[in-house]
Amino acid sequence: MSDRTVLHVKGRVLAGPEDVRDELWAVDGRITYERPPGEALTVTGWALPGLVDAHCHVGLDKHGPVPDEVSEKQALTDRDAGTLLIRDAGSPSDTRWVDDREDLPKIIRAGRHIARTRRYIRNYAHEIEPGDLVAYVAQEARRGDGWVKLVGDWIDRDEGDLTACWPRGEVEAAIAEAHRLGARVTAHCFAEDSLRDLVEAGIDCIEHATGLTEDTIPLFAERGVAIVPTLVNIATFPHMADGGEAKFPDWAAHMRRLYERRYDTVRSAYDAGIPVFVGTDAGGSLAHGLVAAEVAELVKAGIPPVDALSATAWGARTWLGRPALEEGAPADLVIYDQDPRADVRVLAAPSRIVLNGRVVG
Ligand SMILES: [Zn+2]
Repeated sequence: MSDRTVLHVKGRVLAGPEDVRDELWAVDGRITYERPPGEALTVTGWALPGLVDAHCHVGLDKHGPVPDEVSEKQALTDRDAGTLLIRDAGSPSDTRWVDDREDLPKIIRAGRHIARTRRYIRNYAHEIEPGDLVAYVAQEARRGDGWVKLVGDWIDRDEGDLTACWPRGEVEAAIAEAHRLGARVTAHCFAEDSLRDLVEAGIDCIEHATGLTEDTIPLFAERGVAIVPTLVNIATFPHMADGGEAKFPDWAAHMRRLYERRYDTVRSAYDAGIPVFVGTDAGGSLAHGLVAAEVAELVKAGIPPVDALSATAWGARTWLGRPALEEGAPADLVIYDQDPRADVRVLAAPSRIVLNGRVVG
């Protein structure tokens, strides 16, 4: 590793939202703010910590698990969009090999999705009944990197609408077991009715969270439960509703209501102090590499630009327990020609991607 070129990043280094420095160096893949001796390759611009996509799926497409070469392409697409840290929100593929690749984004895994029998997309999840929930949560907590992913609600074909998937007692025991094993728990929830039980059972995060209301927002805020709205995914709700309209009209109407109030929901959550993070839901039916589009959506919902940036940069990294641009941290950063704080659309066109101290894009 010592034969590596020293990299010198000059311009405006955004070590924090208000912590702007003139330069940094990457030596042996690590950040330093002390000028090292010798020659360096210099790159110039506005530097952000490698972006975080907190809801992304590597090793998955709309039919289920994919071969490793497809997973590799997914990870490269994310990387080239500036996503250098992924919280994988559930994958049926074993992507552990990615950890040995210095040219691919770092992944924090949540194991495989855990869903109720026939209550999720085919080939994605362990589909189980409540009596097995604690055992499966323990298994996935051991397989993952500190997170477990539940499917908290889904269409119930007998009811013809979204309904909660897990009884309160089982979910409480399962979340307690995950916490005992040092893992946090998150759940996919579109609708309103699963949220109170999950939060009171001690859940750490909710994905999508379109069903937040005046009733549940204060509860999330009080308990510090984060949300990852995935607005680029919620944008597809009308299309999903059209597809299911004939068989499930109530469900379709429900999905449209959740869609219509999506920006108000996210803004109300933010205003109440609920931590909001950037996630794209890439890898199911959505493309990889949409991180800039999701940040733009959060701004459209009314989150101030610097906070929307933090939701994919400094704040997201702190939440996930990973460093940003600190001395000694892995030199994972993205460089832009302009200040992304002034206009988050800048994120759509990174000029340089630096991963482990090397320019990779
Ligand atoms: Zn997802």
